[in-house]
Amino acid sequence: MEVLDTAALLTWPLEMLMQGVCANSQLAEVQRLSPSRHLMLEAQGPRFDEPTPDAIAAATAASQETGDYTGLSSVDLDVLALALSTGHTLVTDDYRMQNVCSHLNHPWRGVIQQGVREVRSHALECVGCGGIHLQGDTCTDCGSPLKLRRL
Ligand SMILES: [Zn+2]
Repeated sequence: MEVLDTAALLTWPLEMLMQGVCANSQLAEVQRLSPSRHLMLEAQGPRFDEPTPDAIAAATAASQETGDYTGLSSVDLDVLALALSTGHTLVTDDYRMQNVCSHLNHPWRGVIQQGVREVRSHALECVGCGGIHLQGDTCTDCGSPLKLRRL
């Protein structure tokens, strides 16, 4: 199993997410970014867990040591805490989280995998509500046009 950051949750094909573990707070973040994706993840997505207070404290301490703490959101800290406390590889393109993992010799890898054609570095962002979509010309949530955005 691997701990997946929110970029993976938003962009990976659902079947690649099945073996993943994510933090509960990420589900709320996905709901905000892409309500349609949120519905799919709730129905058939990865496992969602709550990191323990001890794990969050350890992730906080480690990121303070590397100087990355101020750049991390509370969701980022949850993701880091889950990875560090479970020992699972962290999948993230966030250089701050990568840096904390490297500092602790914890395994990590990027979200964008070579050789997997479905994986994208871009997503379609709604100009109206800001929702992230993987296909289409208009937003399925509010009907506004979509524009390409780098993740
Ligand atoms: Zn929209």
